[in-house]
Amino acid sequence: MDFSIIELDDETARFRDEVREFCKRYITAEVLDAEYRDGNGFDLELHMALGERGWILPTWAKEDGGAGLTGLKASILALELEAHHAPSITKGTTTLVLPAVMRWGTDELKAEVVPGVARGDIRFCLGYTEPDSGSDVAAARTRAFRDGDEWVIDGQKMFTTGAQNCQYSFLLTRTNPDAAKHKGLTMFLCPLDHAEIQAIRTLGGERTNMVFYDGVRIPDRYRLGPVDQGWMVLLGPLNAEHAMADSAPPVTLDSPGGMYGISAVFALEAAVAWAATPGPDGRRPIDDPLVRHRLARHALDVEMATIATGPAGRIISSEVAIRVGADLIDMVGPRGLLPRGEKGTVEDGWIEHSHRFAQGTATYGGTTDVFRNIIAERVLGLPRSAPPTKSPS
Ligand SMILES: Cc1cc2nc3c(=O)[nH]c(=O)nc-3n(C[C@H](O)[C@H](O)[C@H](O)COP(=O)(O)OP(=O)(O)OC[C@H]3O[C@@H](n4cnc5c(N)ncnc54)[C@H](O)[C@@H]3O)c2cc1C
Repeated sequence: MDFSIIELDDETARFRDEVREFCKRYITAEVLDAEYRDGNGFDLELHMALGERGWILPTWAKEDGGAGLTGLKASILALELEAHHAPSITKGTTTLVLPAVMRWGTDELKAEVVPGVARGDIRFCLGYTEPDSGSDVAAARTRAFRDGDEWVIDGQKMFTTGAQNCQYSFLLTRTNPDAAKHKGLTMFLCPLDHAEIQAIRTLGGERTNMVFYDGVRIPDRYRLGPVDQGWMVLLGPLNAEHAMADSAPPVTLDSPGGMYGISAVFALEAAVAWAATPGPDGRRPIDDPLVRHRLARHALDVEMATIATGPAGRIISSEVAIRVGADLIDMVGPRGLLPRGEKGTVEDGWIEHSHRFAQGTATYGGTTDVFRNIIAERVLGLPRSAPPTKSPS
């Protein structure tokens, strides 16, 4: 692999500067404070401004609502948004689901939602997990019953992150409880107008939701793919989230590796800045060789987490983020635990935030245990870790 730094030509460098200007303008201190406080993973003004420039779907053609960017420019955009701490969870879930809508949606449905996705005013969340099924996603019990040209949805989803900012949920339902577990499922792009959304606040500072579907009626055009074959439809976005998509680019901060490693990057940068600042006794922590040694070890781990991709990258980056966050708190001492906005906080609370945030990264999008199973079964070809369970009754 070539690790050398890419020389940017003038035009690409100008694009990078344009993106940096954009980030300064839209990712303000107020946006970061709100994200720190509410953990929405979304800012409407920023998202709409991205849409205005075609930057929600940056590599799509301009006539389709994208910006026609090359892979390099799209990577620059992604890197700069990350580096400026852009809230991006809802953009991520929307673009994760979009290929399934393009593949399985009717022309009518695509005409209804795709231009809005590109503009920014239509957004999708992931409705898989339920109170009794998470890792075993195919055990979903939320029912969809056909009634003429409509479907009636009944059930409850857990941890539907971003639902409060989305118009549709990519919803996993059971249409045939008598079929084998993976065979009686149907996917919908379910409008959220009539679903009840209740907030869940996590230790990591994220906002996620319980979503209740109580006799929600939707027209058949919101069905994605054939009835009872939803597993096939779900697999596209699920594999992409599990970093198993065929089309996954080799190294990008949008990949699971980069996604979780980035919280450790921020914590490490904050710790280096703290260490380089003289304390009340006039001494700089970084002049202590032990502090330098610890920071250097973490820098290596963080580098590895940032470039590691695929299912292993997801595990490494999550575990590095947890380990580095905990050790940096230990190094900085009790002040490292003060949250942003408190008197005496260290480097705007980034270490404290990264430490808390890191804990959840081992769970969502599939736990690190589940990713170990994915590597064992699908990469190494080992036997299944657990026998298939019976259909839910
Ligand atoms: C902040 C947050 C945001 C989330 N956002 C979304 C979202 O937007 N949409 C959505 O649908 N879901 C979302 N989730 C749900 C997430 O995907 C699930 O929490 C996760 O898949 C684990 O499921 P579970 O919580 O039911 O735990 P369980 O599946 O009950 O697992 C409990 C424990 O058992 C272990 N375990 C389970 N099965 C196996 C196995 N086969 N082999 C080895 N170990 C196993 C797990 O690793 C874990 O340690 C979110 C969760 C969180 C915390």
